Amino acid sequence: MGLREYRKKRNFEKTNEPKGAEKTSGGNIYVIQKHQARRLHYDLRLEMDGALKSWAIPKTPPQKEGIKRLAVQVEDHPVDYANFEGTIPEGQYGAGTVEIWDRGKYVLKEKEEDKLVFEIKGNKLKGDYCLVRFKERKNWLFFKKKMG
Ligand code: MN
Repeated sequence: MGLREYRKKRNFEKTNEPKGAEKTSGGNIYVIQKHQARRLHYDLRLEMDGALKSWAIPKTPPQKEGIKRLAVQVEDHPVDYANFEGTIPEGQYGAGTVEIWDRGKYVLKEKEEDKLVFEIKGNKLKGDYCLVRFKERKNWLFFKKKMG
């Protein structure tokens, strides 16, 4: 996907979000940013292929098994975005406040075209999680895997 779409949507003279570069942090960043935009949502981001793969989750991410959340894939974000907190000004894409809700690392366990399984090592989310893609390409289900 790259960062083209990310940059196209933003005016970096007006927003203080990072312009970023494709690079890796040398790790497997996991972060969820609480984004109070027109609608509150949670942005799940996983470092992959030099960028942060990103999904917008309209409800609180599940800390327990048995809760499934819609996760809408959005444009890749730069790795530097993992540290971003602040206010995106009125009139700009995603206007509102961004704060880090959870962060840590993840360990990829399975990767298929339509399915990711990974262990999250965060403060709020811990354990094995799945992202499973629907037929509508941008829509995924995000849930905590059953143990055992
Ligand atoms: Mn967002």
